[in-house]
This record gives sequence, structure tokens and C-alpha cells, in this order.
Amino acid sequence: MDILGLTFRQVVEAIGPRPHQVRALRAAYRELVNGRPLASHDADPGLQTPKTDRLEAGPTRGWPLRADILPVVRTHQDGELTKFVQRTHDGLETESVVVPMERYGRSWKTLCVSSQVGCARGCTFCETAQLGLLRNLTPGEIDGQVTAARRAFGRDVRNIVFMGMGEPFDNFDNVMQAIDVLTDRSGLSFSAASIAVSTVGRIQGIRRLAALGRRRLNVAVSLNAPNDEIRSRIMPISRTDPMPALRDALLDYPLRKCQFFMIEYVLIPGVNDAREHAVELAEFLRPVKCVVNVIPYNPRRDSPWPAPSEKSVVNFMTWLQDAGQMCKRRLTKGRDHMAACGQLGNRAIARIDRARDGSGEPMGVPSLAQP
Ligand code: SAH
Repeated sequence: MDILGLTFRQVVEAIGPRPHQVRALRAAYRELVNGRPLASHDADPGLQTPKTDRLEAGPTRGWPLRADILPVVRTHQDGELTKFVQRTHDGLETESVVVPMERYGRSWKTLCVSSQVGCARGCTFCETAQLGLLRNLTPGEIDGQVTAARRAFGRDVRNIVFMGMGEPFDNFDNVMQAIDVLTDRSGLSFSAASIAVSTVGRIQGIRRLAALGRRRLNVAVSLNAPNDEIRSRIMPISRTDPMPALRDALLDYPLRKCQFFMIEYVLIPGVNDAREHAVELAEFLRPVKCVVNVIPYNPRRDSPWPAPSEKSVVNFMTWLQDAGQMCKRRLTKGRDHMAACGQLGNRAIARIDRARDGSGEPMGVPSLAQP
């Protein structure tokens, strides 16, 4: 049984209760989902190893347990940032990025995971959108990214953000199951407060999450525009899920006292970076408990827009603050190896996949609206 996408309780349910062995079983489970090889296994080969790691040894002997960690087929080091690519059994690729963080003299690593291969949402500034949606990732494939990162970087990997390829709320059930496994006390034991789900702004997903009541989980929303007119030019979702209704869903969400939404705002020159945009954005967000995360646009391949200048980023943040909106800046890392925000996605994979099903066109690829 591949246990990467299962909680301990689900494993026990599947193999039947064996009360006298539960402690040993729990220890084996914890080792496996953490990506640590069991004692009798070979030394950790690290992220570079281009082969599937099937951990079936030691205390799991006699139990049908294994953690089928997808092989890491490529890694790219870009400054401090590490992007790694795992190959799925059907020949597609997941992409994940390890980002070193530092605050108040402490350092840790945040892992940015993918929830889908490609994405159906068609945001015109995003590289992943150019692939279209190839398929949803399973809970095991999502958590396998964490396991691979834990094997290479150990417990330093403390935060997980669903900001890699894909729209998490388009793969809602698998993402929630993956989060259950990540937060399982018998397994990886992540606190939900150290996990963030970033959505393109799917209202139904936000409402479903609210109904589930996972209150410690953090929610980020990619707004990227001050109004629907601009937003629908760069984000097709705005035509079905307009900003006023999106804001209503945020206002209805049961945030905890100390919790804020993170509103992501990719700053694109000539599209959404003017003073009046900052003022309108602050006005729109006034009732929402949130911090705006300003992300300087990372040009995707064949981008019609350049990256914003340093001055325009600083200006935009000043205008937002002057209008009373708290904001932070996302540091620009990883542009050299297409590992930065919005730069994930291997187009060769889409071509292979299309050739395989003979459909000629990738699914869901948008026409590129010009700014
Ligand atoms: N589908 C989800 C998660 C993936 S994108 C979402 O939309 O939130 C993660 C973040 O990267 C989003 O906030 C998105 O707006 C941002 N992003 C996408 N393309 C980008 C680019 N080219 N430069 C900078 N940020 C980008």
C-alpha cells in the first residue's frame, strides 16, 4: 500500500486493527511519510537521485506499507532557491520550490508545492497557464513533494504553500486529503497554521473551505487587479467569479482573531501599477482583514510585459500604505531557472502529453490578452 497520501488512521483502517503492533506500525508510518529511510535501508541518496525510492524495509516487513516517492529527475539551484522536478508514473512532471526564509534571526525553509500538472485557469501572466491542465495530482503525489524535500532538507522544511503549479480549489478533495496527511499527528505533524492555500479566487472553493472549518489553515487569494475590468483581462476567472462576490466570500469566512488573508498582487508594468490602481485596491480591500503581498512580475516565456522597475514597486507600496492598506513585498528569487512565482511548468511535457492523446491542442490554454 502506498501510504504517502493516507493518514495513519486510514492506514490502520485499511490493513485492519492490530492493537499490539500499533506502536511499531506508527513508528514505521512516521518514518515513511517523513521520507526518512528506515534503519535497514541504504543511506539517504538525497534529491539528486534519479530513481524511484520505494522504502520497504525494516519494521514494515510483513506489512503492506511502502512510500512510493516519485523520482527527482531534475534540480535547479538558483541562488538560495532550489527547484526540483519529480516524474509521475504516467510520464508527467511535478515542480516544487524550496525557499529559504529568515526572520528575527531564525531561519527555516518554505516549500512551494504543486497541486496539478499545468492549470486550467489561464491567467495571462503565468507560465503554468501556458500548459493548460494536464491533470490533477493525487494526495500521494502532492505529499510526495514534501517527503522528497524532507529527505533532502530535513525538518528545516517547516512551511508549505500551495503556490506551485495548479489551482488548489480545482483539485479540492485531493488537496484537503493531502493537508490531512501533512497535519496528521501520527505522521508529518505540520501545524495547519504553517500551511497556506493560494487560490486564483474561486468563490465556491473559499466557501467550501469555510464550511469545513479548518480555521488554522492560511488562505491566500491572487487578486492582481483593483477592479474587474483590469482583472478579467489578465485573469479569466474574474468573468465567472467577480470581485464583489469574491469579497463577500472573504467577509463571510470565519477568520481567527489573529489571522489575515494574504492578498497577492502581481505588479505588471502598464497593467495594474498606477497610483489610481493602488488607491482603488486599498478602497476595495478596506473591509477585508488582509495583508497585500506585492509580487514584482516575473516575466514568463514570450512575455508581452517586462519586470517592473524597483522604483515602481516601491512607489506602489507607498501609495498602498498611504491609502491605509498594510502590505509586504515578496522577494524576487529564482528568475534565472524559471523557478520564481508563476514560472513553473515544462512545456515539453505538454507537447508529449498532447502527442499521446492526439488532441493537438492543450486543454484550457487561453488566448493571450494584451495589456
Ligand atoms: N493558482 C493559485 C496558485 C498558483 S500561482 C493562485 O492563483 O493563487 C501562485 C502565485 O504566483 C499567485 O499569486 C500568482 O498570482 C503568482 N504569479 C503567477 N504568475 C506570476 C508571474 N509571472 N510573476 C509573479 N507572480 C506570478
